[in-house]
Amino acid sequence: MSKTLDFLNENHDRFEQELVDILKIPSISSNPDNNDDMLVMAELLKVEMSKIGMKNVQVIETGGHPVVYSEWLDAPGKPTLLIYGHYDVQPVDPVDLWDSPPFEPVVKGDKIFARGSADDKGQIFIHLKAIEACLATQGELPVNVKLIFEGEEEVGSIHLEEFIKDHEDMLNADYVVISDTPMFREGYPGITYGLRGLAYLQVNLRGTNTDLHSGSFGGLVKNPINALVEILAQMKDDVGRILIPGFYDDVLPITDNEHNKLSKLPFSPKEFADSIGAPALFGETGFEDLERLWARPTFDINGIWGGFQGEGAKTVIPAEAHAKVSMRLVANQNPEDIAQKFKSYVESLIPDSMEAEIDAMHGGFGYVTDLDNPGLQAGVRALKKAFGKEVDFLREGGSIPIVKVFADIIKAPVLLMGYGLPDQNAHAPNENFSLTNFHKGIESIIYFFDEVGQL
Ligand SMILES: [Zn+2]
Repeated sequence: MSKTLDFLNENHDRFEQELVDILKIPSISSNPDNNDDMLVMAELLKVEMSKIGMKNVQVIETGGHPVVYSEWLDAPGKPTLLIYGHYDVQPVDPVDLWDSPPFEPVVKGDKIFARGSADDKGQIFIHLKAIEACLATQGELPVNVKLIFEGEEEVGSIHLEEFIKDHEDMLNADYVVISDTPMFREGYPGITYGLRGLAYLQVNLRGTNTDLHSGSFGGLVKNPINALVEILAQMKDDVGRILIPGFYDDVLPITDNEHNKLSKLPFSPKEFADSIGAPALFGETGFEDLERLWARPTFDINGIWGGFQGEGAKTVIPAEAHAKVSMRLVANQNPEDIAQKFKSYVESLIPDSMEAEIDAMHGGFGYVTDLDNPGLQAGVRALKKAFGKEVDFLREGGSIPIVKVFADIIKAPVLLMGYGLPDQNAHAPNENFSLTNFHKGIESIIYFFDEVGQL
C-alpha cells in the first residue's frame, strides 16, 4: 500500500496533465457537430484503459454514442465492483459567461476550470488513476473491477437501459459505484445513499365548448379555472401535508440513525432562504429542513393556465383550464400507484359541471441504500481515511434514473461516492473541479478497493 501511495505522489503532476488533456475534448453529446469528438473521447478512454492494465477493453456501439467498457477480473473469490461514469458533457452556452474557454482547462488556486471537469470526466479519471496506481505497484487489484463509461448521460442515457439489459451477464457485480455527485461541503467527503423519485401529471378541465361572455353567462355556468384551483387547493393542507388518500402509505420513514446523521449536517435556513431570495422557507411541519428536502415526498403545481392572459381586461369565462403537477417521491413509493391515487382523488373532486382528463406523463422510483450495507460501510471507511474527516451521509432531492436501472437489473446496491463540490457549476458556466478532491479521491478509491477486498 505504501508503494501505491508513493506512486500517487510521484505522478501527482502527470495525473493533472492527463486530466487537462481529456478536458480539452469537446464531447458534447447533444450536439451532432461534436459526434467526432465523442468518438475521439471514447477512443482515448479505450487507450487509457488498456495502458493502465484493464482487460477486454471495448468501445461498444449502442445506436447512439458508444459505451466504453473494460474489466479486470483476476481476483477470484473477491467481490466485483461495476464502476459507472459518463464521458459526455453538457453544452457550454452561454459561452460569454465563462471566464476562460470551456475546453481550454485553466487551474486557478485549487480548482481546474473546464466543461466536464466535475461532471463527470474528473470523477471517472479518479477511478482510472486509482486502478493505474494499484496495478503499477502491486501488479494486481484486491477486487474485481468492471468499468462502464457511457456517452449519453447528459441526453437522458437514451440507450443505456437497453444496453444494461442486453449485457446483464457482462455487467454482473456485487456493487455498483458511481462518482457523479457533489459533496455537501468543502473538506468533508460525502456518500449519497438516497434519491427521490417522481410522478408527473397534467390535468385538463373543460366546462363548455367555447369561451363565454361573463356578463351573458356568469352565474349559470361553473368556471373551469375556478374549479381547477378549488381542486388543486385540496391537495395540501396549510402545514404542507399532502391530502391525497393513501399518499403516504408506502413512505419509508428515515431511521433514528439516519436522523442523527442528518441533524449533524450544518444547514442554515436563513442563509439558504437568502441565497434563493426567499423571505422564508416553507415545508411540511414536524420534519427538519434537510429531511423535507431529501426524505419526504412533495406535491407541486408546476404550471397552470387558461383564460385570458393578455394586457388589459377581458370579461371571459374560459372553456378550459389546465395544470401540470409533479410529486417528488421517496422510497418505497411507486410512481404509478401515486399517479393513480392522485387521479382518483382529483376525479372525486370534479364538479358535475366539468369534464376532466388526467394524463400521467412520466415517473420514476426513488432509491435508498441501507446505511449498514457492507459496501457502503467500506466506502465510508475509505473516504474517512483519505480525507481525514467524518463522512457526510447525503441524499439527493432529485432523481438519477440510471441508479434505479442499475439497482433493478444488476440487483446490486449502488454506492454514490461523489467528489464534486456544491459550487462546482455543473451544467453552468465556469464548471470546476477541486484538485484536492481529485487527488484525495484517487487515494480514497485505492483504500476502497482494499476495504472491499476484505469483505
Ligand atoms: Zn454527470
